[in-house]
Amino acid sequence: MDYFSGYISKLIEQLSRLPGIGTKSAQRLAFHIVNMPKEQVGALANTLTDAKNNVRYCKQCFTLTDQELCPICSNPKRDPKTIMVVETTRDLAAYEKTGKYEGVYHVLHGAISPMLGIGPDDIKLRELMQRLQGDVEEVIIATNSSLEGETTAMYISKLIKPTGIKVSRIASGVPVGGDLEYIDEVTLLRALEGRVEL
Ligand code: ZN
Repeated sequence: MDYFSGYISKLIEQLSRLPGIGTKSAQRLAFHIVNMPKEQVGALANTLTDAKNNVRYCKQCFTLTDQELCPICSNPKRDPKTIMVVETTRDLAAYEKTGKYEGVYHVLHGAISPMLGIGPDDIKLRELMQRLQGDVEEVIIATNSSLEGETTAMYISKLIKPTGIKVSRIASGVPVGGDLEYIDEVTLLRALEGRVEL
């Protein structure tokens, strides 16, 4: 890419590191950005930095938030005795969109994948087990139905079983390998309501 200015090449390279952005899209974005008014570019850059500097994990459920406790954990109307375990904050958002779930969440930030070398210590599993020492009645495992999601579900249920806390898995109405965030609300609700005890 020597025919571009070094700055543009650098910008294209940075943008193409983002998920879902190929070289062509990165080029289009880069040229768009350099043609944008200076203030707009400044605002974009500041928003990126602000988001990075201010977003953190909720100290209880580990979802991304800008407070110590996220709005769900700090909502007294939510039932803290029911914890739904999801892989990502995006999955949490998918369930929140249904508006029907009244419990709280635990975000693992990943799933166990021996193939990718991701083990139980690489996700927020220890933190989940610590939470279970409190007053918890049910853990609903809502990891994806991919191989990694199923492996993680199995692993978690084995860990929790001896504690006597009820463990359930969302119903398999969710398409195999499907990312939870792409599934419609009706299907998600059906999966939640049809959950089976493990
Ligand atoms: Zn939280």
